[in-house]
Amino acid sequence: MKVLLSLLVFCASLAWAGPVPPSPFEKSAQQALPSSQEIGAYLAVLDELSPRARLVELGKSAGGRPIEALLMSNSDDFLTGFAPQQGKPTVMLLGSQHGNEPSSAEAIQLLARQLVMGEHHELLDKLNLVLVAMANPDGRDLSSRYNATMDNTNIDYVALNAGETRLLVDALHTFQPDVVYDAHESGIWKRILTKEQGYLTDVDAQFDMGNNPNIDGELRTYTEQYLLPALLERVSTAGLPAVRYRGEITDIKQSVARGGLGITNLRNYAAMQGRISILVENRLDNKQGSYDSPRNIVERVRKQLLSMEQMLRLIADEADRVTRLSRQARQRWRSAADDGQILWMGVGFEVNKHEPVVSLPLVRMEDGKRKMHSFSNHDAIAAEEPVKLAAAYGITREQARMADWLRRHHITFEVLEAPRRVTIERLVIERLAVQPKARPGVREKLQAVVRTSPQSAELKAGDLLVPTDQPMGPLAALMLDPRSANSLYQESEWNWLAEGEFPVFPVITP
Ligand SMILES: [Zn+2]
Repeated sequence: MKVLLSLLVFCASLAWAGPVPPSPFEKSAQQALPSSQEIGAYLAVLDELSPRARLVELGKSAGGRPIEALLMSNSDDFLTGFAPQQGKPTVMLLGSQHGNEPSSAEAIQLLARQLVMGEHHELLDKLNLVLVAMANPDGRDLSSRYNATMDNTNIDYVALNAGETRLLVDALHTFQPDVVYDAHESGIWKRILTKEQGYLTDVDAQFDMGNNPNIDGELRTYTEQYLLPALLERVSTAGLPAVRYRGEITDIKQSVARGGLGITNLRNYAAMQGRISILVENRLDNKQGSYDSPRNIVERVRKQLLSMEQMLRLIADEADRVTRLSRQARQRWRSAADDGQILWMGVGFEVNKHEPVVSLPLVRMEDGKRKMHSFSNHDAIAAEEPVKLAAAYGITREQARMADWLRRHHITFEVLEAPRRVTIERLVIERLAVQPKARPGVREKLQAVVRTSPQSAELKAGDLLVPTDQPMGPLAALMLDPRSANSLYQESEWNWLAEGEFPVFPVITP
């Protein structure tokens, strides 16, 4: 049956679009959003219709809903074995990680339908695709930013509390994407900016890429200096004005920067693994306002689809460099420092001395007029505490719980079977300072002021040793080292920061 249907689809793709049904959203006369179950059923139909599509279940959400990836490829090897192919980037698209930002889940279904119909066939000549239309199906059905147990999976990439985050992390290891595209929407209505100050934000499409200074140097330079500007240019030329993401503007008096530097979000977490990682925030129109469809959903889906298509075309055109730089970074991470082995533990934004003020548009509520406003520009990156990447990290507290957490991240480690004498960098926390909050809603962080001294130490049987000479090594160091702005101990369930000797430390000679 599948062969026959495949043949039909093949013919259809050459001549007409007969047997591929429209998506549930396209079919809905009221332009109502389909449930997660209806989307799943539609993806199964596409799988059935096309030999180039394969639907794979990644796991279940907290609310028991399946999370699935529709693989699209011209290659049977990829569809069955998932392995990256020479010169052909694997691109993973994640839709609606925030369930109340639904347009990208719909756009991914449209993209999949078009590909099944044989449109954009040049893309499948150049790319293998992993389409996760609904990264958060609970959020889809509950119209919520969170999953069914109220986790915000979007900032869970260090703690890995939510099952959804864990299964997306597993998917990064299963499919080894060279490019990860995480699609969001940004509401133009803000509590302080709009309700108290009378302005709406005015952005159609904004993009950022992995920006943490510890990302592999060559990969980061390529994405910062070439790929991001090229993407903005292409999306704008295609008719959707696109700009760099400046962070959320919630107050007319605030400063602006870029998308956050932290590795708690997927963008930097994936980029630290040596992947090109792209965030899009498309415009989520205001509830008031009159549109041709409910809350302008048809237009919003169109913008998401346009953004995805332009991104895919750019990656297809850049296939050689994308695969070379991302795979090289995964095999052999080198930081931007001269010797390639430096990690910056403290990272944050500061005033951009070359461009201290930027002008951004806002729309005045009372008359709908668009006007430019000046914002203090804090998009320069300050990287402090350069630390040479140690050969390993030793873990001497709650080893079983830590082992479980390391496994979730796919970090390789050794459990010592007998005591071992090693040279360590002893870390003593002398003082804890509370970092000023970047803005309301952003969690408070502690900065550990640490004294270090090399010394000989004996690890006990049962202690853990995490070598950094592994693809996850630099990321592991940023999460394990208490000096890091994104250490595990900034997470509420891992509240280990206290004055005195720290139980996790660099090991110089393991
Ligand atoms: Zn979002």
